[in-house]
Amino acid sequence: MNKNSSNMMALAPNTSNKRETVCIFGTGDFGRALGHKMIQSGYPVVYGSRSTQISNLIPKDAEVLGHAEAAQKAAIIIIAIQRQHYNFLTPLAEVLRGKVLVDISNNLKLNQYPESNAEHLAQLLPGSKVVKAFNTVSAWALQSGTLDASRQVFVCGDDVEAKQMVMNIVRALGLTPLDKGSLLAAQEIENYPLQLFPMWKFPIFLSLGLTAFFFLYCVVLDIIYTYIYENNDFSFFIAITIPNRVCPVMALILLALVYLPGIFAAIIQLYRGTKYRRFPDWLDKWMLCRKQLGLIALAFASLHVVFTLVTPLRAFASWRTGKGIISQVLNNKTEPLDHTNAWLSDSYLALGILGFFLFVLLGITSLPSVSNNVNWREFRFVQSKLGYLALIFCTAHTLVYGGKWFLSPSAYKWYLPNIYILSLIVPCAVLVVKFVLIFPCVDKPLTQIRQGWERNPKYSK
Ligand code: NAP
Repeated sequence: MNKNSSNMMALAPNTSNKRETVCIFGTGDFGRALGHKMIQSGYPVVYGSRSTQISNLIPKDAEVLGHAEAAQKAAIIIIAIQRQHYNFLTPLAEVLRGKVLVDISNNLKLNQYPESNAEHLAQLLPGSKVVKAFNTVSAWALQSGTLDASRQVFVCGDDVEAKQMVMNIVRALGLTPLDKGSLLAAQEIENYPLQLFPMWKFPIFLSLGLTAFFFLYCVVLDIIYTYIYENNDFSFFIAITIPNRVCPVMALILLALVYLPGIFAAIIQLYRGTKYRRFPDWLDKWMLCRKQLGLIALAFASLHVVFTLVTPLRAFASWRTGKGIISQVLNNKTEPLDHTNAWLSDSYLALGILGFFLFVLLGITSLPSVSNNVNWREFRFVQSKLGYLALIFCTAHTLVYGGKWFLSPSAYKWYLPNIYILSLIVPCAVLVVKFVLIFPCVDKPLTQIRQGWERNPKYSK
């Protein structure tokens, strides 16, 4: 078959059900895995390789030829070769003219080269149509069929028809193509698999730092102080009591930190009198990781629930209950029910249950499968209105639980405030400022600013 006719074939619409031959350069891990998947999907596959000897690893229905010979058999050539070897393609420029070249390569570091691998390939072979695809799918996932979490295949390229052909193959393999635009997007697509939880770094480091701080704070006040001044060894508090203090504190503070950047943004917009100036970088980054902060907060809240539920199973709890009963028996006196205490305990439990229920609702609606099924207004209603309600319930839960100690001098061991007092600072500040922001005299100008009104317009009419 002459090369021009194969190029014509590439651009002609496929009227029959028969799939067109696909050529894969490189019989390495990825080339083999992709070839295997393509054969399963009905594509005839021909490999272009430095060695035409067929090894056991190569899919048995595939052909293995030299690069030039293999390229002539197909309109689409998948380059399953590392970027540093691309120079070997230059002498094949004529054979590859007009063909669709699919660059699937990744790098070892973010922005390793000034231009993306796909753009580099397009510069080496200006007569070919380069499309970037498949680089976010791993050879292992292709081979083992465990593609559930990564069905999406980013595709980009300057030639619309070529991109469409590659997207058709992606679909035929049971994957979902996502058109990312022109080849300029290739750098971003190549960086994608190299990122390590980019949105989670700040929330995770912040949570680790705060957890370590509060844990040590509790160790000092609940174990070391008690040992020194009361000669009691409560070191076993490290297992459940202290984690059950730190978890609710962390959940409450992190939930408040989800809403704090919104408060800062509102204040900045009111101060500037416009929404058309960018927020400081730190605020932009903070806003982008609110979902992650919220999910970590939910994890802490869930741990608090579990720790609380196992409390009656603890030896310390049975000992304390037993001690109370024995002392009543010895004194031959039944303690009357303290109604105030009963009210307080039932109220804080009820507030905690309601707060946790809303917390879970927030977590569920942040899942992509759920958030994709609600409109923007519904999403905002849950995340903003119900989110604030969750913050109010959780703050009230802590206030009712710890309120009785706040004014008692015994709560200030070594002049340090109780951990619950510390945990209320950020949530109370957020709720108070939010309360001020919903006053009509503040809310009205803020709403106008968010609708595009400017106090000092840059471009006056
Ligand atoms: P690999 O196992 O090292 O295979 C690369 C293939 O390139 C070799 O088998 C060889 O095929 C060919 N090759 C090596 N040196 C060459 C040279 N000097 N000239 C011409 N051809 C040469 O690598 P891989 O894991 O399959 O990865 C291939 C590409 O896919 C890379 O760019 C990688 O970033 C990308 N990728 C890989 C994965 C993955 O999970 N492995 C996932 C996404 C993307 P022949 O011996 O047949 O010539």
